[in-house]
Amino acid sequence: MIELLTISNVKSRPVVDLFVLPFFQGEKKAEPTSTFPIDEITKLALASGDFYGKEEEELLLYPKSAKEKRILLLGLGEEKNCHLEILRKAGASVAKLCRRKKIETVVFAFSQISFAEGFLLGGYTFDSLKGESAKEKPVVQPKKAWFLSVDKTFSGQLERLKLLIEATNVTRDLVNGNAEDVNSNTLSTMALAFAKEHSGLKTTVLGKSQLEKERMGLMLAVNRAAAKDPALILIEYRGSPNTKELTALVGKGVTYDTGGLNLKPTGSMETMKCDMAGAAAVLGTLKAAAALKMKVNLIGVLAVVENAIGPMSFKPGDVYKSRSGKTVEIGNTDAEGRLILADALTYVQDRFMPTRIIDLATLTGGIVVALGDEFSGLFCNDDALAQNLIVSGETTGERLWRMPLTKGYRDALKSKIADMKNIGGKKASPCTAAAFIQAFIQEIKGKQGKSIPWAHLDVAGTAFLDDPSGYHTTNATGCGVRLMIDFLEKL
Ligand SMILES: [Zn+2]
Repeated sequence: MIELLTISNVKSRPVVDLFVLPFFQGEKKAEPTSTFPIDEITKLALASGDFYGKEEEELLLYPKSAKEKRILLLGLGEEKNCHLEILRKAGASVAKLCRRKKIETVVFAFSQISFAEGFLLGGYTFDSLKGESAKEKPVVQPKKAWFLSVDKTFSGQLERLKLLIEATNVTRDLVNGNAEDVNSNTLSTMALAFAKEHSGLKTTVLGKSQLEKERMGLMLAVNRAAAKDPALILIEYRGSPNTKELTALVGKGVTYDTGGLNLKPTGSMETMKCDMAGAAAVLGTLKAAAALKMKVNLIGVLAVVENAIGPMSFKPGDVYKSRSGKTVEIGNTDAEGRLILADALTYVQDRFMPTRIIDLATLTGGIVVALGDEFSGLFCNDDALAQNLIVSGETTGERLWRMPLTKGYRDALKSKIADMKNIGGKKASPCTAAAFIQAFIQEIKGKQGKSIPWAHLDVAGTAFLDDPSGYHTTNATGCGVRLMIDFLEKL
């Protein structure tokens, strides 16, 4: 990955391929502390009327007298409206320009961490599935970037950012990857390798026979027709060993979702390699937390199955028993994410008694209809937890919209032959899905009537985009990693 450096004085900048000068609207320099050494050139450009500093405005100059080959005037829009997302998108637009022009070195007369974040996120590419012709013309990525900053803490912020985006890109790679390649074996191997890489991580993998022993009936049912065994991957991180505080992060890891016997139609199945994005986000978050040596305790749980179709498939109308003891009538085999989450959540509560639980899942098409890719759906039984998550969503641009979680939705899951059904009809499908999961959240030990604080993030619309844009350069966004790390840092 690119090397990120700082310089405190614009005069000491190295000779590079590109020098970036950000402006607010009205031709106002975005970095007041810096003196641009090429004022005559910028003045000429500004006087031409070709550049005002409007949002997304770019003007590329090739001045003979400057020491760099190119100078980019970059517009950020009105200063009072310049929020973090605009900075991220502006950073990403420079990353894209670098790729187009095969630029390897760049100096930014700017020191906004969100801008650098966009630059790194926008530098992500996914080419591993391309053939030989792509190898002949490899993508040229920037190798070094300098940020002009007088703030002594800025290089530390850049170091943190780099580790965070590296972990985000691990998640993006997994979600973009072939379903054939990203399965329970590869995810287990990767989680075990992370534990070797980072001293703070401990990985345990529960295979099929252990899941049978642990009575994970719903997880086993979903995986029945798959060629590969299911796996429950547990990754522990103890960054604050003197406290009992423990956050559980549970991810849905359906490595491919055909829908099962309630087979998905053409047009709905083609993106289903992304149905493990929740698990991939949990894996990325644990990697980031360990790399950043965060002072928190985490237990990451990846519930990994494949919802395949075949003579062994679990059947609509049949009843299966969960680890909790509750029996579930299968109304639709395509509502499988909530089944594996139910067992994974019961397991993590039985074994670890976490202080709070957050699950991430590409759970329902309904949430995509409701919120598109602007917001992930947030369902939460605790107002303080919900509020903190929403704040982190606004900070990171991984925005959350709180959805209702009332008794009526759970009533929709009543079954005549079992304790409950796994679907609640066409109405409010994200809400009935959340209500199903909520049925498996336990009470805090010794506090009757008070449930463990729990949040469910339905990321079906935000983890894998139809049309990548801005700093999302591919379908997979890595959604969840930056959000979770920001939330955990503020704990
Ligand atoms: Zn499904």
